[in-house]
Amino acid sequence: MSNPNQPCVIAKFGGTSVADYQAMSNSANIVIANPNVKVVVLSASAGVTNLLVALAEGRDAEIRKQHIAKLQAIQYNILEQLPENPALREEIDRVISNIAALSEAASLATSAALTDELVCHGELMSSRLFVEVLKEKQRNAVWFDVRKVMRTDSKFGKAAPKVDEIKQLCCAHIKSLNGSQIIVTQGFIGSEHTGKTTTLGRGGSDYTAALLGEALNATQIDIWTDVAGIYTTDPRIAENAKRIDDITFAEAAEMATFGAKVLHPATLVPAVRSNIPVFVGSSKAPHDGGTIVYNAHSIKSELPLFRAVTLRRKQTLLTLNSLNMLHAQGFLANVFAILAKHNISVDLVTTSEVSIAVTIDTAGTNTDGSSLLTKELLDELSKVCCVEVQEDLALVAIIGNNLTTTKGMTKQIFGQLEQFSVRLACFGASTHNICFLVKAHDAENIVKILHKTIFE
Ligand code: ADP
Ligand code: ASP
Ligand code: MG
Repeated sequence: MSNPNQPCVIAKFGGTSVADYQAMSNSANIVIANPNVKVVVLSASAGVTNLLVALAEGRDAEIRKQHIAKLQAIQYNILEQLPENPALREEIDRVISNIAALSEAASLATSAALTDELVCHGELMSSRLFVEVLKEKQRNAVWFDVRKVMRTDSKFGKAAPKVDEIKQLCCAHIKSLNGSQIIVTQGFIGSEHTGKTTTLGRGGSDYTAALLGEALNATQIDIWTDVAGIYTTDPRIAENAKRIDDITFAEAAEMATFGAKVLHPATLVPAVRSNIPVFVGSSKAPHDGGTIVYNAHSIKSELPLFRAVTLRRKQTLLTLNSLNMLHAQGFLANVFAILAKHNISVDLVTTSEVSIAVTIDTAGTNTDGSSLLTKELLDELSKVCCVEVQEDLALVAIIGNNLTTTKGMTKQIFGQLEQFSVRLACFGASTHNICFLVKAHDAENIVKILHKTIFE
């Protein structure tokens, strides 16, 4: 546990920040430069989780061999630039043969639990290697298996953390954070009550850092990635995207929820709960600064009407028309009960008297909307309504402040979209966003146009 009077920073490094030896070395230099960093949370090296997910889907022997060779090459490239260390080499080899055995099992029968058991090895390897990079730089570092403390429920693939238990387990397993020793651990992975490995969903390492920050009373959570902060839109889509220097928890959480991949959507939940500032910066260019996300009271300048434009891909739209006459009661309740029974998480909803349109949330999972919409679900829905499913959609959102009380704002947005078809729009539920569904192939163009109109 950290001493409440001393700063304690949790530093998280994403996949590109531990992709190879040079990236790990840059990241280690960032850790060393800040004596307040007590815990380091790591993703798997870039590309490794995707390979592991592919293996978990059950591949034939030849493809398995190729995938395993690729991930072995990624890890060996790092290993071979470190001073000779037989114990570490043995450990990496042991993990790789574990991966081979588990992927063979997955080729016979896959399951969500087996997938999590398989994909956890990416973070296990990157964290082992990173300890040695720190040690090579004369820092006292210790490897820690986060599954000892990251207790979750049993929803394999997208498990929910049990915050109180995590806090208790951290007290029991992480005695002191005040010495010079740095704890190096894994993001993304956890364990359920019987000890089986779980994962928090794709991109979940940011969330791990925030959960540990909360449990350990950290004073700051640093998210080191491949961009120097949070921008007005994804800089890969709009080259004129501008860095936002300070942003409130509410605005940044809204951006993450609506697709700004730079933060996993749940990351800010523990940070808000415990009022811990979150910094986002680039591990390649740490001196370029970054974005600080904190409480609205800490931001001196007035909050802008428009803050950012975001894009969330892979949306599925379900349109449900009631078979009964107008004024039928209980239609909404019926439909949502069926969706809940089939574990469908609904994202956006619009309704008219006889129809409902909902978007299905597949963010952070390895499945698309169509595979969530099982035959059993569609059959059950068809008993109460006509069902239509539309795919290849994307959600564009404008994030800002006081959007529902500012005049003329909708014209500024929708006025730009005349050449596109907008399938569904949601406005009014939150003062922080206005969002709409568009065809996937129009989405980037729309983001560019809106960014240009609003921010450039
Ligand atoms: P990591 O592996 O470090 O977790 P991610 O790929 O998950 O990194 O997140 C960083 C990426 O998020 C950036 O490369 C960028 O393309 C994307 N991104 C999307 N929206 C934004 C935004 N508004 N600001 C900054 N980056 C964004
Ligand atoms: N390695 C995991 C993923 O690629 C978790 C993360 O990087 O945050 O999704
Ligand atoms: Mg990420």
